[in-house]
Amino acid sequence: SLPFEVLKQRVKWDADGLVPAIVQDVVTKKVLMLAYMNEESLLKSVETGQTWFWSRSRAELWNKGATSGNTQQIISLSYDCDGDTLLMLVHPQGPACHTGEETCFYRLAASVEEQVLADPVVVTADSMRTATSDSVLGFESNPNPDSRFAVLAELESLIAKRYEERPEGAYTTYLFDKGLDKILKKVGEETAESIIAAKNQDNDELRYEVSDLIYHLLVLLRERNLPLDDIMVELERRHERPRRD
Ligand code: AMP
Ligand code: ZN
Ligand code: ZN
Repeated sequence: SLPFEVLKQRVKWDADGLVPAIVQDVVTKKVLMLAYMNEESLLKSVETGQTWFWSRSRAELWNKGATSGNTQQIISLSYDCDGDTLLMLVHPQGPACHTGEETCFYRLAASVEEQVLADPVVVTADSMRTATSDSVLGFESNPNPDSRFAVLAELESLIAKRYEERPEGAYTTYLFDKGLDKILKKVGEETAESIIAAKNQDNDELRYEVSDLIYHLLVLLRERNLPLDDIMVELERRHERPRRD
């Protein structure tokens, strides 16, 4: 293998002396995480055969798994065409992500074909098209208050369509095929994750988790044959604002 002195020269360190390093599972080929390395962490990685990074948030050298036990044994180290990215194939001792997920990339934001990828949160190109107007995800400020929550109705229709048609490979189909208990389990998980996100005071995380929760609640309503409109009526009733009629 390349002497460290040579490797060090071939890497194009950024202005902060860092280079992004992609970590991939050598067996499953899943991309596990991306983190940054400085010269010292690269040397440590080469010397110990475990992944070491530079934590930009904590500003310290970081041996992946030092506290969690989820270390990564390096099988190979590559640098890309222009030397600005590293790739490490590893044998992971456990989940790569600090959330406990196997890979940090467990949130599917969009896909051309709906696919069951492990157990991901799915926002498909299909659901995005039907559930949006101007903005990509349909959550940009909408001047018309009546259509502010239109995405919910769209999502409800899409879920109903999945329920009827059960297209193969769709995550929603998978949920309906598994049945009520699976759906309830997901609702429970997403609830717990929302709580954790809120406790961590992480609003980016909370936005994701509450979105996941709402999606799974809509699936549950469909499964139980309870229209979203009934929920709206109930909310209205509780609100008990004076009516004009
Ligand atoms: P670990 O390195 O697994 O012992 O985790 C120690 C800390 O490093 C965690 O509490 C996180 O703050 C951070 N961390 C661990 N894994 C990741 C990751 N994949 N991406 C970002 N931060 C991480
Ligand atoms: Zn490159
Ligand atoms: Zn992660």
